[in-house]
Amino acid sequence: LLIYNTCSIRDLAERKVMGKLGKLGRSKTRRAIIGVTGCMAMAKKESLFRKMPHVDFVLGTNNLTDLNLVLDEVLETGKQSLKVDDQFEENLNYLVAKRDDPVKAYVSIIRGCDKFCTYCVVPYTRGQEVSRPPESIEEECRMLVDQGYKEVTLLGQNVNSYGKDKPEWNCLFHDLLYRLDKIPGIERVRSMTSHPTDITINLMQAVRDLPSLCEFVHFPIQAGSSRILKKMHRIYTKEQYIEKVEQFREILPSVNLGTDIIVGFPTETEEEFLETYDIFKQIRYSVAFIFTYSPRKGTPAFRWKDDIPQEVKDDRLQRLLSLHDSITQEQRQDMLGQEIEVLVEGRNKNNQLKARTRCWKNVIFEGSSDLIGTLQTVKVHSYSHQTLLAGPVGELILPSSKLALASSNL
Ligand code: SAH
Ligand code: SF4
Repeated sequence: LLIYNTCSIRDLAERKVMGKLGKLGRSKTRRAIIGVTGCMAMAKKESLFRKMPHVDFVLGTNNLTDLNLVLDEVLETGKQSLKVDDQFEENLNYLVAKRDDPVKAYVSIIRGCDKFCTYCVVPYTRGQEVSRPPESIEEECRMLVDQGYKEVTLLGQNVNSYGKDKPEWNCLFHDLLYRLDKIPGIERVRSMTSHPTDITINLMQAVRDLPSLCEFVHFPIQAGSSRILKKMHRIYTKEQYIEKVEQFREILPSVNLGTDIIVGFPTETEEEFLETYDIFKQIRYSVAFIFTYSPRKGTPAFRWKDDIPQEVKDDRLQRLLSLHDSITQEQRQDMLGQEIEVLVEGRNKNNQLKARTRCWKNVIFEGSSDLIGTLQTVKVHSYSHQTLLAGPVGELILPSSKLALASSNL
């Protein structure tokens, strides 16, 4: 049984799956049962069977619980099966997830998105926002902590909207975080992903006050020009965004911010791109996902001419990537000599322990396998390109002139 769980957010993701499916269709050996789930299933529905006649089933994101039914149908009748309901199944049994990662767990808290950014396919493939009852989230988190998990990442297309669709619950996103923080043994709580408009003062204070909540917040700007932001329907201006970041840094100066950026949105000029570049430099994001604009069928922006040539998009992407690189390099340099808390996730291919800081930085150090899944304090002594190199607390720090040498050898 082969299941392709797909993403529709950019054209490249779709093309990769279509390429793989096409290859399977040409294979002469006996085939497995092939199914397509996820957002491509929602967007393409039965048209997937026309393009890929060897696909056995297409299962939408609201039909996860129908998987066994669909498999029985395919096995018994040998016919193709399609289950793609647009209506969200409210009573999903979330507690059955099987996890491979023994250290970090992902927990779904809200599905769908009501924002309708003009470039984005998510509101059409995932439907409107539906929050999961807080009791069910708490139950899953308690269960995970009992099983030894130290870190929980709360998932949603827009986690900050949590609870707005269910005012009767009286539990917004920050309320949920306060509830989860009370679970004994919960060490780290993160979330992904968010919309700046819904980042409230209450949430900023929660990041400052709750011991379990990591001091890293994803704060996706998408573009630095207010004209482009308006065209994207992001419902904030550049000034409002910056003001919010300043407010956050007043409440918690050490907060680390992440972002998503789209370059080459229709009509984006060089000057407007430079506004994005300057804001990036000013805010000094520690994590950034940068994309070139990809027109998606069914979105409002699809009707506009995709007028920025691919070379210009790629050039803007490269400039932001190198800026991001130099900023994160400086951030690593600033951490030299610091003692930091890390969660040990496993071993890398060189058999060293790999771990993460609360703010998502990669760290490697030597140690025994007993440390996997535990929180440790280590001291940063140098860094390679993307990774902090650490050792036991109390270790001697190399003089800075040798650091460049040490890191260039790694
Ligand atoms: N809800 C989050 C983002 C979820 S989608 C938010 O509002 O920020 C993840 C990221 O994919 C987006 O932040 C955006 O940067 C990128 N993305 C979405 N649609 C895209 C498109 N058509 N072309 C290029 N990037 C896109
Ligand atoms: Fe897409 Fe995020 Fe905008 Fe929703 S808020 S439409 S998920 S980019």
